[in-house]
Amino acid sequence: EVRVRFAPSPTGNLHVGGARTALFNYLFARSKGGKFVLRIEDTDLERSTRESEEAVLQDLTWLGLDWDEGPGVGGDYGPYRQSERNSLYKKYAEKLLESGHVYRCFCSSEELEKMKEIAKLKQLPPVYAGKWASATDAEVQEELEKGTPYTYRFRVPKEGSLKISDLIRGEVSWNLDTLGDFVIMRSNGQPVYNFCVTVDDATMAISHVIRAEEHLPNTLRQALIYKALGFTMPYFAHVSLILAPDRSKLSKRHGATSVGQYREMGYLPQGMVNYLALLGWGDGTENEFFTLEQLVEKFSIDRVNKSGAVFDSTKLRWMNGQHLRALPSEKMTKLIGERWKGTGILTELDGPFVDEAIQLLKDGIELVTDSDKVLSNLLSYPLHATLTSTECKAVIEDKLSEVAAALLAAFDGGEILGALEEGSAGWQKWVKSFGKAQKRKGKSLFMPLRVLLTGKLHGPEMGSSMILIYKAGTLGIVAPQAG
Ligand code: GLU
Repeated sequence: EVRVRFAPSPTGNLHVGGARTALFNYLFARSKGGKFVLRIEDTDLERSTRESEEAVLQDLTWLGLDWDEGPGVGGDYGPYRQSERNSLYKKYAEKLLESGHVYRCFCSSEELEKMKEIAKLKQLPPVYAGKWASATDAEVQEELEKGTPYTYRFRVPKEGSLKISDLIRGEVSWNLDTLGDFVIMRSNGQPVYNFCVTVDDATMAISHVIRAEEHLPNTLRQALIYKALGFTMPYFAHVSLILAPDRSKLSKRHGATSVGQYREMGYLPQGMVNYLALLGWGDGTENEFFTLEQLVEKFSIDRVNKSGAVFDSTKLRWMNGQHLRALPSEKMTKLIGERWKGTGILTELDGPFVDEAIQLLKDGIELVTDSDKVLSNLLSYPLHATLTSTECKAVIEDKLSEVAAALLAAFDGGEILGALEEGSAGWQKWVKSFGKAQKRKGKSLFMPLRVLLTGKLHGPEMGSSMILIYKAGTLGIVAPQAG
């Protein structure tokens, strides 16, 4: 049975790297009909907080990555917080002590420091060189009687190599001579991270460990512990780093990196999930638009790239626009309409008006939060004001003055408003007759009209824009525009 896990340390917010790891695990589990387990790695008691754990769970839920086992849902392999699994770690540590894979090390931190310095001077690898690896029972007994504190140290084979076959990176191997015996349990009884992870993955029957590349050095230690405990090793898949555009490791200084920040900025979970999936994966075609369901259908670990993926926030934004436009229209109306009402652009949520406005404006929107700007922009078309303001008059080229004068007359005479009242057909008819009278058509008619009426060179289709603005005015649902 396929069982994968996402194992966040609750020491901060869920960042995009973590979210992508969670997503790949989720997709792998769902595509194989397996289980997606969530485990909280809170062994670092000082840095771990419940608030952070809750924030991570909330972000995963928002992304739609529901877990089959873990906090909140339970499961047969719990508890799912490392801080609640101490007795288990203790049990396996004792087992390793009995089998001789682990020994008690009574070295004080001063002694260890000294050994490190000597190794450095001699340019030797920082491997443990204390006596306790080969101490006699009597020597151990003596220290125990004295009550000297001790750690549990794992006995690493002094030569040879270890290799794993990684589903993304192929064969990875390490020489063991530079590793050194490492601690698995501190003198205060606190188990050490790599040991906990191994015991957890093994006892939770995890079949595939999919995690970030930066954990590769841990994998070596964990693999040794697997062997020593006689556990079957899971398959490993180490996913490459997410890089900033300058190809350095993505970090806060590159801008927003947490899922929560994107949510607050108005991103949709669909857009986020789709973009994260493309960081190191593709279905092999040109297609880049995927819903979560489609990703489950298409995902395969063989297609995960082993080189680093560059995080491109412009593309994420664009992707979000694709998903925003793909929303069913009622959803979009609700989302954007509520936004417009919330920001005070509209005083009232008039469904048909919102629908019409969205139809007209949606191509210019990538984030829900963009929509305010796009609508305010439209509503601030000066229309009549452009024609009458002295500044604008000055801008209007001489050869347009005739058109401008005629337009002003059409406004003042109520012809334009009358045409708008009749909607699209009325507007078309009026434009046609106006063009005829002015002996203008095509671009030479529409450009002056646009500039004179909207004060801008470009914008959404003009007739619809004008009608919308007219409606906004007559419906009385638009708050007065500043400036
Ligand atoms: N807790 C680790 C982290 O947050 C993940 C460990 C793992 O996946 O093995 O980076």
